[in-house]
Amino acid sequence: METFKTIADTSLLGGHTALDFVNTVDSRGERWGPDFLTSFGDLVGWALRLGLLDPSERNLLLEHAADSPALAGAKLEDAKNLREALHRIFSAEARETHCDQNDLDQLSEFFRRAALQRRLEYGKGGVTWSDASAMSMTAIADRIAALAVDLLISRQQRRPVRVCQGRNCGWLFLDQSRGGHRRWCSDKTCGSAARVRKFRAERVD
Ligand SMILES: [Zn+2]
Repeated sequence: METFKTIADTSLLGGHTALDFVNTVDSRGERWGPDFLTSFGDLVGWALRLGLLDPSERNLLLEHAADSPALAGAKLEDAKNLREALHRIFSAEARETHCDQNDLDQLSEFFRRAALQRRLEYGKGGVTWSDASAMSMTAIADRIAALAVDLLISRQQRRPVRVCQGRNCGWLFLDQSRGGHRRWCSDKTCGSAARVRKFRAERVD
C-alpha cells in the first residue's frame, strides 16, 4: 500500500540537496508526479527542512508571499523550471551523455544571482562563503543552484549520480555504495518491490 506523502515527510535519499530537490516529484518513471511542491509555502518548508533557510528567513519569505501571492506563484514556477533543468542535467550525467546548453545557461543564471548574495567570511574552519539574509523570494532557488553547480563541476572528485531503476520512481541519487553499482534510491522501497516482482515472475515461469 502506498502511503501518501507530502513535502513535509518526503524521503531525502539523493545524498545531496540539489538531487533531493529534483526528487520533490514523487515519480518520474512510467507516470510523472505527483509534484510535492504545490505552493510557495511548500518550497519554503522544504528549504527550512534541508537547512537552506533559517527560521527567521522562513518567516520573512512567508510574509513576502502573503503580501504578493501572484509573485510567489511565479517564483515557485521559476524554482520548478530550475528543478526540471537540474533533472535533465544530472540525468544526462547518469546516462553519460551531454547535457543541453540551454539547461546549463538557465542554471548559470540562477547561480550568478546566488553569487551576488554571497560574501567570504572567516569562520571556525577557515574562510567560507556566507549567504546574505534571504530577502528575496528567488533566494531558495538561487541557493539550490549554487549547490547544484558545486556538485556538477566536481564530477572528477566524487561518486556518480544515478537514476533509480524502480518502477514509477526515477529519483536521482549519489551512488556512495562500496561497489558503485547501486540501482535503487532505497533498498527498502524500490529495491524490495523489484525483488518481489522478480520473485513472482520466476514463479509464473
Ligand atoms: Zn526509487
